[in-house]
Amino acid sequence: MNAGKELKEIFFATKRLISACEEMGLEPPMLPEGALEFTERPVLRKPAPPSAQSMNPEKSAPETLKNKPPSSPFDSLEDLRKHMGDCRRCDLHNGRKHMVFGEGNPKARLVFVGEGPGVDEDREGRPFVGKSGQLLTRIIENGMGLTRDAVYICNVVKCRPPGNRDPKPDEISVCLPFLKAQLSIIGPEAICALGRVACQALMGGDFKITRHRGKWRTYEGIPLMPTFHPAYLLRNAAAKRPVWDDVKSIMGKLGLEVTQNG
Ligand code: SF4
Repeated sequence: MNAGKELKEIFFATKRLISACEEMGLEPPMLPEGALEFTERPVLRKPAPPSAQSMNPEKSAPETLKNKPPSSPFDSLEDLRKHMGDCRRCDLHNGRKHMVFGEGNPKARLVFVGEGPGVDEDREGRPFVGKSGQLLTRIIENGMGLTRDAVYICNVVKCRPPGNRDPKPDEISVCLPFLKAQLSIIGPEAICALGRVACQALMGGDFKITRHRGKWRTYEGIPLMPTFHPAYLLRNAAAKRPVWDDVKSIMGKLGLEVTQNG
C-alpha cells in the first residue's frame, strides 16, 4: 500500500472512531489539536438531512441518549443494541453473517470478555459457542458452579475478523465504545478478560498475557482478572491449572464458595 493510500485509510478510520464516540455521547480520543480540527470538519459539523438520519440506524440515536453522562449513555442493553442497528462502522461488517452482541444476565455480577466471534459464533450470532465456548461453559458450570445465564459473555469486537485473525487496532477502536457501554450498563462486580486482545483493549498499553495473567487490575473501578483465552487452553493443557487459579480468585472476589477441584 502506498503512503498516500495508507494516510487516507488512517484518516477515515479516525473519522469513524470520532463519529462513533460522538454518537454514544463519549469523549473522542486524544488527538493533536490540528488533527481533531481537521477531522471534525466533515464529520462533526455537517448535519445530515433529517430523512437520511431516520433511514440510517447508525445515525438514529435518540437525543435523550446523547444527553446522558459519558459513563452511561444508554439505559439498557436493548437500547444499546438498537442504537448499533445494522452496524457498519468498521470494515468487519463486510464478512460477517451475524453481529454477535453478547448474551447473559443484564445484571450479572461477572462479565467474561473475549476478543471477537469465531466461525461458529458468526454463524449462530451468539458468543462462545464453538469449541472454545464449550470449554468456557465447562469452566462456568463445572468449575464455578454457575450457569451461562447467570453471567454475561461478550467480546471486544462484535463481528468476526476474517480468517480468525486478531482484530486490527482501528477495528478495536471503533467497536470498543460498545463494549464499554455494555460494561457500564451491567455494572458487574468483576470482569474476566480472556486473552491478550481483551486485556489490552480494556487496560491499554502493551499487555503480555503470560506475564500479567492472574494479577488483579481495575477497569473503571471494577476489578478485572486477566486470564488465558479458552482457545489457548485447547492448545496448551498445561495452562488449565493457572486458569483454575484465576477462576478461584474470581470466585473469592465474588464471595462464591469453591467446591470443585478444577
Ligand atoms: S465490529 Fe463493531 S464497529 Fe465493526 S461493524 Fe461490527 S459492530 Fe460495528
